[in-house]
Amino acid sequence: MKAVAIHDYGGVDKLVYQDIDTPVPGPGQVLVRLRATGVNHLDHDTREGLSGFPHALPHVPGIEGAGEIAALGEGVSDLAEGDRVSIGIIASCGKCRLCLAGKENLCENAQALGVSMWGTYAEYVCCYESQLVRLPDDLSFEKAAASHLCFSTAWHMAVSLAGVQAGQDVLVNAAGSGVGSSAIQIAKLHGANVIASAGTDEKLAKARALGADATINYNSQDLAEEAVRLSGGKGPDLVIESVGGEVLVKSIEAVCRDGMVVTCGAHAGETIELDVIQLFRKHVRLQGSALATRLETAHVLQLVADGKLEPAIHSVLPLAQAQEAATLTANRNFFGKMVLTP
Ligand SMILES: [Zn+2]
Repeated sequence: MKAVAIHDYGGVDKLVYQDIDTPVPGPGQVLVRLRATGVNHLDHDTREGLSGFPHALPHVPGIEGAGEIAALGEGVSDLAEGDRVSIGIIASCGKCRLCLAGKENLCENAQALGVSMWGTYAEYVCCYESQLVRLPDDLSFEKAAASHLCFSTAWHMAVSLAGVQAGQDVLVNAAGSGVGSSAIQIAKLHGANVIASAGTDEKLAKARALGADATINYNSQDLAEEAVRLSGGKGPDLVIESVGGEVLVKSIEAVCRDGMVVTCGAHAGETIELDVIQLFRKHVRLQGSALATRLETAHVLQLVADGKLEPAIHSVLPLAQAQEAATLTANRNFFGKMVLTP
């Protein structure tokens, strides 16, 4: 099969489009013929050797994708060849305390696609049943690959953890990111007043087109001051945060009394100074979030199929152009998601 493999860590030129043996599904696994692959920032960190996760090299990156079942491994009975599926990153064990509590996204024994397993920058990938969500019939592979991670992650943050409600003021940072562009739509779907922030006016115009009611350019405006002003002087009830660094500090400063900040990323700074007095006097709830459950993923994919959510797709490129997609990711010169077609 054709795949993009990393033989050593470094720049985008380390993504090598090549022939590689098609993998064979083991017990409990299936082989999926990929039709679309979602590009994520973790792919970039993986290639550079900065992800914090060890890999054996060569390694095939890619943590989400959509396609058709091509072959079944031993013991797989609930799926059939030709089934249309979307693949998520987490292969959960189904047995640990968190899996038993329905929090499979936090599984203590998980394997991870494109991290501990070969990923979706390939024509075929082996994965476990626990990673698969069936695609609604009328949902395209490209839309599924652009939706799986970002809409489910944003849903987990805004709905499952924060319980977003109509009339609330919601600040969504990194409006141009997959999670940001998804969170804007999810908050609007629930009737919230959405304030979107990003680093360029071009991204903010696109955020308004997705439904954002107001916008803040955090390179030219004070994020905290503007967020307070745009939420009637009290501060946003909820912040969907994925930037980290100074943007997270300003978000905690801005959030209203008894408000909540949910964070799922820290590319702009992994360590911050935290004003603990502000945290307890304002009753701020600071909540970390990682990925989502399969039930949440199935739910958002159905909402995309129904036209209630629409992935912001920056571009769809052939897998052979993975280097070009990686360059755009590295420069943050895109809005929404990039998709590769193997
Ligand atoms: Zn588990």
